[in-house]
Amino acid sequence: MANKKQLEELREVLIERKETITNSINDSRNSIDSLKNSECNDEFDYAEVSSDSFKEGIIANQQIKELAEIEDAIKRMDKGTYGTCEMCDESIAIGRLRAKPFAKYCTPCREIYEAQK
Ligand SMILES: [Zn+2]
Repeated sequence: MANKKQLEELREVLIERKETITNSINDSRNSIDSLKNSECNDEFDYAEVSSDSFKEGIIANQQIKELAEIEDAIKRMDKGTYGTCEMCDESIAIGRLRAKPFAKYCTPCREIYEAQK
């Protein structure tokens, strides 16, 4: 189980990551907007724009998902349930939390979960 100091460190990591993602989502929204605004331009290669904004959309979706997980993890920290596996109630190893601070499951449960997909 993570101690208080480790929790504080992880919280900082989560908050920092949250800011990075938020900025990055805003950036991709802005670039999609500017692509949309330039669609009237005759010289614009429409196919290229579509595939780019498509990619941007996928990236943004992944980031929005990660953002939700991070916010969830911060809420769990506030509630004091952070660092406990949601499936088996065992403590999640600190090494795993460091690698993935918003992890909800311990490594064995994660493997079971992945295998079921
Ligand atoms: Zn577990």
